[in-house]
Amino acid sequence: MNFKGKKALVTGSGGGIGKSIALLLADMGADIAINDVSIKNAQKTAKEIISKGRKALVSNADVVKNNDVKEMFKTIAAEFGRLDILVNNAGITRDSLLMEMEENQWDQVMDVNLKGVFLCCKYAAKMMSEQQSGKIINISSASAQIGNIGQANYVASKGGVISLTKTLAKELARYNINVNAVAPGYIRTPMTESVPEKVKNYIISQIPLNRAGKPEEVANAVAFLASDMSVYITGQILSINGGMYV
Ligand code: NAD
Repeated sequence: MNFKGKKALVTGSGGGIGKSIALLLADMGADIAINDVSIKNAQKTAKEIISKGRKALVSNADVVKNNDVKEMFKTIAAEFGRLDILVNNAGITRDSLLMEMEENQWDQVMDVNLKGVFLCCKYAAKMMSEQQSGKIINISSASAQIGNIGQANYVASKGGVISLTKTLAKELARYNINVNAVAPGYIRTPMTESVPEKVKNYIISQIPLNRAGKPEEVANAVAFLASDMSVYITGQILSINGGMYV
């Protein structure tokens, strides 16, 4: 896989899975727009990308805010002149059992995980349709496929991402834009660090490959979907879960 000359945007790439994706695409030759609400973390990722000899843009756009996202895409158009790959990775959890879940926990998760994907897809599609090419990869979750106690908000948002992916694949195919999603299982990142040890052990006992996944293993699948090796694949959900859901 070679991304020389390609321009990519990875949302939420200040850490975790997004950072691994940004670094891998840069290793393979792409210039990357790094986005994260944490500007400090975004700058750290950008520094690593520049040290690889690639170009990096930094945006602290909140993917929930239309104006932030609009400005981010304006900067990408001005600095990169095109966008070949969009990875909608920014995501949050606000776990709670349904009967204790506050309205704002529901709204925050739906906003970042689903509305954020909608907004970035909308502006990316405008650029990519003019180019008559593009790859959009959305990060869903295995929990959307199997359900998960305490995550009604998260699971609904990630299920929405799957449905959005399928619809956009159909809608944008005429512009030669591929839209796919990946559904990671249990991956060791800052997001899953706070899960209690007992719960972590239980989750791992449910995984046939008997371990948590690594962010780099998700990045590998994203790179495949961003590459020319997957040009005839669209509207698909690729599981990276150690067999947790088959
Ligand atoms: P993480 O918390 O380590 O990283 C998420 C990043 O998104 C953070 O750097 C955060 O600052 C950024 N972010 C949050 N809200 C944002 C916003 N409004 N605008 C821009 N950036 C924002 O989490 P992670 O585990 O690396 O997760 C990455 C993606 O993978 C998420 O969509 C997550 O739901 C999904 N996922 C993770 C796992 C897992 O086990 N870790 C499993 C399945 C899916």
